[in-house]
Amino acid sequence: TRSDITHFGAGPAALPTDVLQTAAQALLDFNGTGLGIAEHSHRSELATNIINEAKADLASYLDFPASDYEILLMQAGGTGEFSAAVYNLVGAWVVRQHAAVLSELGSGADEAAVVAVLRERAEKGLKLDYIVTGGWSLKAYQEAVRLLGPEYVNLAADARTINDGKFGKIPDQSTWKLSKDAALVYFCDNETVDGVEFPEFPAVLAPNADGTGPIVVADMSSNILSRRVPVSNYSLLFFGAQKNLGCTGVTVAVIKKSFLPPTTTQPSPALMRKLGLPIPPIMLQYEIIAKNNSLYNTLSIFDVYIAGQVLKKLLKTYPNKVDGQQAVSEKKANIIYSALEAHPEVYRIVPDKAVRSRMNICFRVTKNGNTDDTEKAFLKEATSLGLTGLKGHRSVGGIRASNYNSIPLEGAEKLAKFIEAYAKA
Ligand code: PMP
Repeated sequence: TRSDITHFGAGPAALPTDVLQTAAQALLDFNGTGLGIAEHSHRSELATNIINEAKADLASYLDFPASDYEILLMQAGGTGEFSAAVYNLVGAWVVRQHAAVLSELGSGADEAAVVAVLRERAEKGLKLDYIVTGGWSLKAYQEAVRLLGPEYVNLAADARTINDGKFGKIPDQSTWKLSKDAALVYFCDNETVDGVEFPEFPAVLAPNADGTGPIVVADMSSNILSRRVPVSNYSLLFFGAQKNLGCTGVTVAVIKKSFLPPTTTQPSPALMRKLGLPIPPIMLQYEIIAKNNSLYNTLSIFDVYIAGQVLKKLLKTYPNKVDGQQAVSEKKANIIYSALEAHPEVYRIVPDKAVRSRMNICFRVTKNGNTDDTEKAFLKEATSLGLTGLKGHRSVGGIRASNYNSIPLEGAEKLAKFIEAYAKA
């Protein structure tokens, strides 16, 4: 049964049982309306309230000023955000350059002349920087290349070059080849497949004292809500819900309001076509989603409801909000890593100690040197004890324990005990 199992899957992750019980009832009959939450109109007042409460609770829990950021509830997953980040921030780059060119050439300038100058600027100066530290930032980088062409995309750092072609380290920031005035600098805060997490915000990307600085974008799909985030350092951060926030189906983008109207209005499709640059599908245009409070089209209010319930539970559990969860996340990760470190003859932790993830604990079982069979045996025994979802990602193999927020302290302790017992057996 559900209570016998601790599920360490990487996503979809386990959800708190009480949240699911509440949601199950809401699916049948929401607040005595006789209609389930998935049946009510997304344009109803109750749907709007669910959206607004979830947004306010997210800002409160993460402790960032809702006045400076817009929270968008989107639908194309983390993968959709790989594309959305490119489209929207290239658009914002064009808007900035367009304004600069108009002021240089004078407002009476011939349109063809403006386009010619802009085109030249794009060819010389439009760059998107990617820090690749694992499979997901690699995918985001590849999507940027696919949408724009390689000439616009700069692989500013590739962790594989310092680790025999494999992920598991983060190159020293002094070696990152950052472009001047990049349209964005992208990194993935926690690499779910490779178990690599940035220990803190990369200092080299910090804003200047006057608030100017690089346009930083981060994928926080697999570690959001588990530690304090210096939100004001980011222009955009995004995350799929299905690890720490809720169930699959809703994706959150938190974007600085200065990238939205009235400050920034996306360039016209006609101008982008003249420049040979892509325009976003309407569902990925942040401006459109923001203008409509995430209801440009039919949003799954059920998914937003679950996310909202998870946030309410977190806020209730931790009076000091995300800091409370952060302490627990660290404690759980330490318990599991300590058990692994106690038996170096049996376990090899995959990433470097300095960058290992609190959320996705990746290791190999090397007992008797026979990794494949040993890992199969390890997984089988773990499953028989109710420790499930421990198989590593198909691209890298090994074992991965995903230590998301819904794993209780006792769950982490149970896994650590098993790790120890297996080593000694
Ligand atoms: N980024 C990260 C860090 C992820 O872990 C994942 C999915 N596991 C994705 C992006 C892709 O998310 P989705 O499947 O929602 O597109």
